Amino acid sequence: MTNRNEVLFERAKKIIPAGVNSPVRAFGSVGGVPRFIQRAEGAFVWDANEQRYIDYVGSWGTGIVGHAHPEVVEAVREAALGGLSFGAPTEGEVRIAEEIAKLMPSVESLRLVSSGTEATMTAIRLARGYTGRDKIIKFEGCYHGHSDSLLVKAGSGLLTFGNPSSAGVPSDLTQHTIVLAYNDVSGLEQAFAEFGEQIAGVIVEPFVGNMNLVRASSDFVRTLRHITEQHGSVLIYDEVMTGFRVALGGAQSLHGITPDLTTMGKVIGGGMPLAAFGGKREIMNCISPLGGVYQAGTLSGNPIAVAAGLKTLEIIQRPQFYENLSARCQQLTTGLIQAAQENGVTFNADAVGGMFGLYFAKEHPKSYADMAASNIDGFKTFFHGMLNQGVAFGPSAYEAGFVSAAHTPELIDETIDIAKKVFASM
Ligand SMILES: *Cc1c(COP(=O)(O)O)cnc(C)c1O
Repeated sequence: MTNRNEVLFERAKKIIPAGVNSPVRAFGSVGGVPRFIQRAEGAFVWDANEQRYIDYVGSWGTGIVGHAHPEVVEAVREAALGGLSFGAPTEGEVRIAEEIAKLMPSVESLRLVSSGTEATMTAIRLARGYTGRDKIIKFEGCYHGHSDSLLVKAGSGLLTFGNPSSAGVPSDLTQHTIVLAYNDVSGLEQAFAEFGEQIAGVIVEPFVGNMNLVRASSDFVRTLRHITEQHGSVLIYDEVMTGFRVALGGAQSLHGITPDLTTMGKVIGGGMPLAAFGGKREIMNCISPLGGVYQAGTLSGNPIAVAAGLKTLEIIQRPQFYENLSARCQQLTTGLIQAAQENGVTFNADAVGGMFGLYFAKEHPKSYADMAASNIDGFKTFFHGMLNQGVAFGPSAYEAGFVSAAHTPELIDETIDIAKKVFASM
């Protein structure tokens, strides 16, 4: 039988760099052939060979209500009949903005954009415009999209300015970005002691989902809030992944922290290109045409994306939604830990709301360095073992996983049974 994934991958590579439109999809860090997805429903995706997988990627967390949820599909269909894009304001935009602000009280005012990258890029520009300062702080291992000043990795010393982590980014730009270790309170204090009056803002993933799942310590987030306030710097919670994923009110509701700005994406579009940034009115008022910070978008607040988002936000507010989601996620991680233990595999896992981390290490990682020290080869073996038996995790050890409302207790048990076999073979 011909493997249609292979055929499509070969064809794709001839016309699209590495055959993919976003790097991790190429399976570069795990090897093998990416699965070309034909369709998806509930907790499942089917590849080009009609092979079914229990899906723990969920379009990187966007699919919180499950794939092709009938109510979301109907909302999209209805909206599409009324026109695909107007480039003018709509009532739907107002409704979703009101809804987001209701669920996340730190957001007094917000703008809709089309990708998380746009949201974080603009939040940084806004922090700079509002404070009149240039420098920003980010943390190693946090991903904030691919705008130039955020594509930065740590320099060689403890308190050096960042180096571009991508070719094509001038170091003139990244010299304004200070990169610190995640959860490193003293590094943060040191950076503010030295550069405090020049720091426009700090951007942070409040639970990291882009170096696997890494929790922020409460000491770390409290220091972040306190020290930025003290120095008049803008605290940006990048909740593109955690927003409406770890809890209805986002990570900030779990931390009890009120950030100055928040960026959102993924879940709020329910699978459509929709993202947002918002926060304190005083800062948001700096946005054009009220203020001097420019931002715009032809497809911003697209009516189809807004319809999908509104319906998704409605579904996640139904009784017991997050209780059930968290319970399923816990069931998965505790089951996997036990399965690994029974088979003598060094493994750990963690879950927050509908987001989880799998670690081939004894302890939960606290930083990028911890993650890099874990058994990455162990992950690769596990990943392919699971994939071959119909369970899809993200194709990299540095990605978090996601459970949706469509993952039933039975499907989680099935996943754990498959994992037992895979762990036994390791
Ligand atoms: C996914 C993600 C982004 C980028 O969003 P895109 O829609 O892919 O541009 C930014 N920040 C975080 C925390 C993310 O997880």
